[in-house]
Amino acid sequence: MGYSAEKLSEEKVFKDPVHRYVHVRDRVIWDLIGTREFQRLRRIRQLGTTFLTFHGAEHSRLNHSLGVYEIVRRIIDDFFAGRPEWDGQERLLSLCAALLHDLGHGPFSHSFEKVFDLDHEHFTRQIILGDTEVNRVLSKVDTLFPKMVAEVIAKTYENKLVVSLISSQIDADRMDYLQRDAYFTGVSYGHFDMERILRVMRPREDQVVIKHSGMHAVEDYIMSRYQMYWQVYFHPVTRSAEVILTKILHRAKRLYESGYQFKHEPRHFYSLFAGDVSLEDYLKMDESMMLYYFQMWEEESDPILSDLCDRFVNRKLFKYTEFHPSNDQMNKLMELNSLFKKAGIDPEYYLVVDSSSDLPYDFYRPGEEEERLPIHLLKNNGDIRELSRESEIVDAISGKRRTDHKLYFPEDLLREGPSKRNIKRQIRKLLELE
Ligand code: CA
Repeated sequence: MGYSAEKLSEEKVFKDPVHRYVHVRDRVIWDLIGTREFQRLRRIRQLGTTFLTFHGAEHSRLNHSLGVYEIVRRIIDDFFAGRPEWDGQERLLSLCAALLHDLGHGPFSHSFEKVFDLDHEHFTRQIILGDTEVNRVLSKVDTLFPKMVAEVIAKTYENKLVVSLISSQIDADRMDYLQRDAYFTGVSYGHFDMERILRVMRPREDQVVIKHSGMHAVEDYIMSRYQMYWQVYFHPVTRSAEVILTKILHRAKRLYESGYQFKHEPRHFYSLFAGDVSLEDYLKMDESMMLYYFQMWEEESDPILSDLCDRFVNRKLFKYTEFHPSNDQMNKLMELNSLFKKAGIDPEYYLVVDSSSDLPYDFYRPGEEEERLPIHLLKNNGDIRELSRESEIVDAISGKRRTDHKLYFPEDLLREGPSKRNIKRQIRKLLELE
């Protein structure tokens, strides 16, 4: 019997708060879970800085990856069992892609990627194809197998049915993170009837479709996604932490480039600062490492770096106010900028406009980075219809991007003290703090 078909002598189960159990029978899956690159995901939180808003949100990307794997395994083994589309190889390929789809995420990946101009998808690919433990496991299946797994994750694999399980507008990735993030944050949004959705999924030649009778369960899923975005993912307090994190990384990079003598040399950041990071360096950089540096940098003599690190580590976040980038507001921002300078508070690090936007559901938007397959319903007569043409609720929110801008600043530094009293008062007036 080949390695790809090899089963464990006994099924392994992982206790999981969302799916109750995650089941593993395949030797390949078990071996992948044991690799150092997969285990690294324990040290990367699924929701980045969200734990500073919702203290329960400490769950890791490992946790979520196992969940995505379990949903795909259930779809294939329980609901699609016996269908000819799922021969042994396509099944194993789908399971591996589900398990490994987030492998390349860096620490606090949102800010991290932005500051260092990196792309986690590039690293996912490198880990799967490069000289890694994951690659050695996948190559034992077949020399071409790592490339196939990377293609599924990159959505370029020829069998689009397999791709749609992992990335469409109703894929295993989203179904897991909505429920998992709701569970760990403790919010009451994010819940929907996944059992019902899995039951009404049907494989078609190029994507999974949903039986028309399951439309209401899907509507519920779309709404819960919409609410999770605004209640959790774009929470203004989380964004405040994200702003500070971004500024810490910018400041450290700037200091490094100007030849500043660090008390705690940022050795693990050197190749990131230089824009030439090797896979080995990248894999060493996890959230434990990053937080270690932030704690060390609290003791730096540069007042900006040390203050920002103190803010992040000890949760002294920036306050915020609504900001609409109109002419009026832009003028106000310029005025604030010069007042901040006069008050001795560097606006580059302490006066920040941040924007979030989300598209709750979209049926067609070519060229967008979030381009995912739309949801198709299967009618009783065999016709296929795109969801927003059948559901008024989904139609009402389709293609509508909601954007929200906020202005962040350290309110604590603007309280009146003995120095710069008048300037601070002017700033507080402009920010409508008094
Ligand atoms: Ca994911």
